[in-house]
Amino acid sequence: MKKEDIFDNYKDYIMPTYTKVPLVFTKGKGSYLWDIHAKKYLDFFPGWGVGNLGHCHPKVMQAVRDQVSKLIFIANNYYHLPQAKLAKEIIYRSFPGKVFFCNSGAEANEAAIKFSRKFGRGRYEIITFEDSFHGRTLAALAATGQKKYQVGFEPLPEGFKTVKFNDIEAVKNALSDKTVGIMLELIQGEGGVNVADKDFVLELRKICDEKNLLLIIDEVQTGLGRTGKLFCYQHYGITPDIITLAKALGGGLPIATMVVKKEIADTLSPGMHASTFGGSPLVCRAALAVLKTIQKEKLLSYAVKMGDYLFGKLDTLKEKYPLIKEVRGKGLMAGIELNIEGKPIVEKCIEKGLLINCTHDKVLRLMPALNITKGQINKALSVLEEVLKGA
Ligand SMILES: *Cc1c(COP(=O)(O)O)cnc(C)c1O
Repeated sequence: MKKEDIFDNYKDYIMPTYTKVPLVFTKGKGSYLWDIHAKKYLDFFPGWGVGNLGHCHPKVMQAVRDQVSKLIFIANNYYHLPQAKLAKEIIYRSFPGKVFFCNSGAEANEAAIKFSRKFGRGRYEIITFEDSFHGRTLAALAATGQKKYQVGFEPLPEGFKTVKFNDIEAVKNALSDKTVGIMLELIQGEGGVNVADKDFVLELRKICDEKNLLLIIDEVQTGLGRTGKLFCYQHYGITPDIITLAKALGGGLPIATMVVKKEIADTLSPGMHASTFGGSPLVCRAALAVLKTIQKEKLLSYAVKMGDYLFGKLDTLKEKYPLIKEVRGKGLMAGIELNIEGKPIVEKCIEKGLLINCTHDKVLRLMPALNITKGQINKALSVLEEVLKGA
């Protein structure tokens, strides 16, 4: 099929829910992608946060190939080894607790919301934050503090109070006897790469302890080494009550999970919540390979090193180009806030073979694979600089 025929098929048969870039990709390896004309691209936003190991990591491919030939799927009323192993690995690396497997970030957050309501026994309000993003299903959307995603889909489920991010007084004012939890991303991804203050998070933990509320950390984008620790909450010296993971967990395969601390994990009993595909042998094998690879290839300390290098270069760029308003982020999650619209910048970068993202209109987002090299960072930044120079 030719490129134009592919576009036609999309136009005729696929709902137009995505703003699309007119590129057709056929192959990926590490931080590189090739399009249908065999043009090579450097990918600094692999899979919108899915590609922490880059494209088609050999260890993930190997695990998937092996599992595919044994057992692809088995329903959750039976047992299988990959799920048992993966759950243990996740708990060993996070905090004592239990997991629930599902398939997407929205679903994991949905599970956290349902869990909170059961836990609350009548308390059901969850405090969430402006510019947050928790997914597109109705409850996750209601938790998302961005009107633009919500218009047209009302009435949204009740029970969410959205307050200003990093504002502890706003949180205190929103508390009521119906409050059951506080839900946030420690670095708001879609919302513009906004980093939660340490004092703010410590204070949230304190409030949750005092009032028996659940501190729910959405690690869908920040998890799995993105910020230089396996989970972003580990930078803050707190233990959440619940975390949700998705994007990078399966190395490209759809797997997500909600992790709940041990003391309350049996709040949900048989029949209360489910997901047909959740935690199948195939996706669990992929996720096991991801966790193992992060450890074996020492990608956490490596991401810290490469992150320092990247942010050093971005700070230099900021000094040179006044149209950069602020550079922020952690590890290999970088946001570059511009004084101008980011979309044309992204388009020019793509023309020059560099894939990046723009979120919140003016924030360029770079989230390269954790195994990115210095040479690749140099290359990406020289393309970006060239484009900024012309802007
Ligand atoms: C992407 C994202 C989600 C939604 O994940 P899906 O897999 O698209 O449902 C939820 N929370 C955060 C922080 C995200 O970045």
